[in-house]
Amino acid sequence: MHSGNRTARLQKVRQMPRSLPVATIRGTAIRLHWTFILFLVALLTVMSITSGPVAAISLFALVVMMFICVVLHEFGHITMARAFGIYTPEVILLPIGGLAKLKRIPDEPEQELAIAIAGPVVNFALFAILVLILGRWPDWSAIPQFGQGQINLVEQLAIFNLIVGLFNLIPAFPMDGGRILRALLGFMLPHSKATRIAAWVGQAMAIAMAMAGLMGGNIILIAIGVFIFLAARSEAQLDAMRNAIGGVSVGQVMVTGQPPLATSDPIMDAANAILHTDYEEFPVQNADGGLVGFVLRAELLEAVSRHGLEATVREATREDIPVVSIHSQAAKAADLIAAGAPAVGVVDRVGRFLGLVTWRNLVDVLAVSSAIDRHEQVATRRH
Ligand code: ZN
Repeated sequence: MHSGNRTARLQKVRQMPRSLPVATIRGTAIRLHWTFILFLVALLTVMSITSGPVAAISLFALVVMMFICVVLHEFGHITMARAFGIYTPEVILLPIGGLAKLKRIPDEPEQELAIAIAGPVVNFALFAILVLILGRWPDWSAIPQFGQGQINLVEQLAIFNLIVGLFNLIPAFPMDGGRILRALLGFMLPHSKATRIAAWVGQAMAIAMAMAGLMGGNIILIAIGVFIFLAARSEAQLDAMRNAIGGVSVGQVMVTGQPPLATSDPIMDAANAILHTDYEEFPVQNADGGLVGFVLRAELLEAVSRHGLEATVREATREDIPVVSIHSQAAKAADLIAAGAPAVGVVDRVGRFLGLVTWRNLVDVLAVSSAIDRHEQVATRRH
């Protein structure tokens, strides 16, 4: 892989998808991704137009039940992860399923295997329970009529759970099958190599799916193929980042030198600071010198147009920015940024600003480390 391209592509990873929170269960927020909401609206609109409002409402009931099954699948992962002491702050629902955002993915293959397999196990258990309620095997020939109200809800949910369970076993990130494959490879290979192979298998599967979709004229299959391809790639990229900065401390990668602004300064001071420097983020401190948050170049203009020139720096400050100590692992900052933080502040023991870590500077660290790797490879070949 060409490292320059890899560096450019890495910059896309931090862009967070937009989503809407709907509920919180035992500390885990359930969020709907905008593509999932779009999918629901499109489905209901098409159904109301083609089959009338009654069919649309019965379809909505089915979709809600399917949504609950997907959430139960995710809670299979979450419960198993909790058994290993891993907390899950949120679950995002996408049109192709849920994504539980575990605080960390364990490096131990047996733990990753147990967590990954717990999701599909929930679907197979639900399938078994629904078949028992139904009292017979589902009528497989009715699958093409799925969602059209001709077959009963229990039967449709049984079929749905079987399909979800099997679909998630496809060995491609971010499907559970991709993690199961990596965990199985991890029993024999180092973690980074297992990830590379699993990501490669996932991308090959995704291409095969998209090709099959193209030949069969199936748009959904093409869309799933493209989605899996991109997801497998960003998983491999985030993992490459974690490996490159493993063992490095925040203090070794942070950017310093930005003069702090005070919350009470006029907003024009922030505008001037940003206009006359290359910095994208400015630390903001309170009267005691404690870090309050950051003014972001990208958000300053909006703050000025909303609050006017009489406003203070406080109005333009993003306060929801995580902070870490200078001795923290750089990988922790990378995880926080990958989870959506625009930057990570570095503070001393009393909370004063020391520096900050952004995705840009982690990408620079990665570029330098891969240049050193290339040099070492060339040097070994010479000997
Ligand atoms: Zn899963």
